Amino acid sequence: MDPRNVRPSELEVWAAERDCDATVVRKLLSAIFRRGVLEPGRWMAESQIPKRLALSVAPSPLPRLTLDGSVVSPKDGFQKLRFRTGEGLALETVLIPLHKEGAVSVCLSSQIGCAMGCTFCATARMAIRRNLQAWEIIDQFLQARELVQAQGRRVTGAVFMGMGEPFLNYDHVLTAADLLRSSSAGSVAAKAITISTVGLVPEIDRYTREGHRYRLAVSLGAATDAKRKELVPVASRWPVAEVVAAARRHALARRARVTLAYVCIGGVNVGEEDARALGELIGDTPVRVDLIEVTDTTGRYLPPTAEELQAFRDALTRHVGQPIVRRYSGGKDIQAACGTLAGVG
Ligand code: SF4
Repeated sequence: MDPRNVRPSELEVWAAERDCDATVVRKLLSAIFRRGVLEPGRWMAESQIPKRLALSVAPSPLPRLTLDGSVVSPKDGFQKLRFRTGEGLALETVLIPLHKEGAVSVCLSSQIGCAMGCTFCATARMAIRRNLQAWEIIDQFLQARELVQAQGRRVTGAVFMGMGEPFLNYDHVLTAADLLRSSSAGSVAAKAITISTVGLVPEIDRYTREGHRYRLAVSLGAATDAKRKELVPVASRWPVAEVVAAARRHALARRARVTLAYVCIGGVNVGEEDARALGELIGDTPVRVDLIEVTDTTGRYLPPTAEELQAFRDALTRHVGQPIVRRYSGGKDIQAACGTLAGVG
């Protein structure tokens, strides 16, 4: 039983069944998350974790992903890490420098490849290989944090926006998020953790029902079904109005704005009519619209020109009565930007 695959609350129940109290669980998580100790022998020696518990957690050291490559963008300091799983599959993680000096957010992958087929995305072209287990998501975070700390910086946030559709790996993603947030483990503030989805309505509703405190980001792609189906094939299953309705239910239940991510593509979805359609779709739903310029490694889709983007922003200001933010998608020169992760390069 890998404690990185179990929610802290479940780990406490599991330990209680073995006559160990919550203090022991806190010591165990602290050894793993604060000091990076993955060996049962050292848990017993350094943290006074009872031998029977340590050995029933893990008779041998917990596994790690193999760090297989790291590249830093000379342009903006984004850093991409490439890991390999035990069976040799590649996945990628991105370190995002934040505005606050020395602060870094980690962009985590939740699957190897992706089945959603977004036509502008390199991960989609890998197809889907498999879900990552919670420990593989957590180990991305731990290894990224080790690198960041060695550079004298600190990790203050995590976003599930790397390879894969997080809500298709719901349980492992939520387990990983709970571990990241736990004060005994990752100690990342819930509001600094974002889970992104391309718009799976049943999972958005499940997430709302379960009352999670992490930020929710929903990728729209376009404001009409006709355009959205071209960019985000999963749109054939849920009309965009249903996706925004689910986002609205979440925003109202949580009393927090949902982020609607809008990938801007020159000549495709940044016209006056697109802004008007987006405004009608959103209405008074409490959202923040993040504009992200497309990075398509095939060159099929191009980002809008500066004039096109400014005109779109002006149109959105007229048609959408909610905050509009231009989000920087960095690391383009090292294939670390949104939509470019493919486990190569
Ligand atoms: S944009 Fe996200 S959901 Fe769409 S194919 Fe790429 S990784 Fe999957």
